[in-house]
Amino acid sequence: MAELPSAEELERLLADPEHQHNPLLPVVAALAEQNREQARKLERLMRIADSSYGVAVTRNQDLLQQYERQLKRLDKITRISDRYQRNLIELNEQLRDAALKDPLTGLANRRQLMERLHDEQARCGRGQPAFTLAMIDVDLFKRINDNHGHDTGDIVLCQLADTICAELRSQDLCARWGGEEFMLLLPHTGLSQAEVLLQRIMTAVKALRFEKLPDLRLTISAGIAEYCPSEALDNTIRRADNGLIAAKQAGRDRLVISEPPHQD
Ligand code: GH3
Ligand code: MG
Ligand code: MG
Repeated sequence: MAELPSAEELERLLADPEHQHNPLLPVVAALAEQNREQARKLERLMRIADSSYGVAVTRNQDLLQQYERQLKRLDKITRISDRYQRNLIELNEQLRDAALKDPLTGLANRRQLMERLHDEQARCGRGQPAFTLAMIDVDLFKRINDNHGHDTGDIVLCQLADTICAELRSQDLCARWGGEEFMLLLPHTGLSQAEVLLQRIMTAVKALRFEKLPDLRLTISAGIAEYCPSEALDNTIRRADNGLIAAKQAGRDRLVISEPPHQD
């Protein structure tokens, strides 16, 4: 097939005087005009398509920016929510500590001790070995407060608590019963084992030295009682306390072992 002339070439051929009498000239001129019209239409369509494409691209970019902004906002909200959640967990831990720990010494408080005591009592009911309680009281502690001030008394109590805890096994619990009194819960422990442990604690307390009061010597008195299955917990506590009172009456710095309760 012959190659078609370009538009300029066709214009030039139509205008050439040499072809003015060619009978095909009007037909070719009409075809050329039709061709030009179609080229114009095509150009118009291209312009419309270009501008629609431009609008679509701009709209896509807007949507993308909106999406990125929302993503950033979501990220910020997630970080804030994470922070709140961490704070909430910390607050819960602090709340739990406040509910179960003595604020001065960090030891278990009486509530925590009673919870553990009830657990131990339930365990003993299932044929497990019993536990022993030790009630400890610092000898003549009031003098320390009177002679050196309450703050020094607090420091002495904290160091004493650390000294007692250093002698315990992981399953034992030392609680602050109140004031300068501490209660030990010794699971799976009979009286003879508890006695050995208490003697060790009493020796460690005597060896305790205080930075600000190098001449201060501390002693403790204690009463111990082994839990008897089916005995009321209050009774075991009372027996340990009676042992402590007896130790004080006998001159302090000693340990008194409570007799088991009478079985009817
Ligand atoms: P005893 O040998 O008979 O037990 O004599 P004591 O002086 O230790 O006993 P007493 O009951 O007369 O005094 C206990 C003192 O413990 C009185 C009280 O002010 C003091 N105390 C109680 N709790 C705290 C405390 O948290 N910090 C300080 N620094 N002192 C306390
Ligand atoms: Mg005391
Ligand atoms: Mg006391």
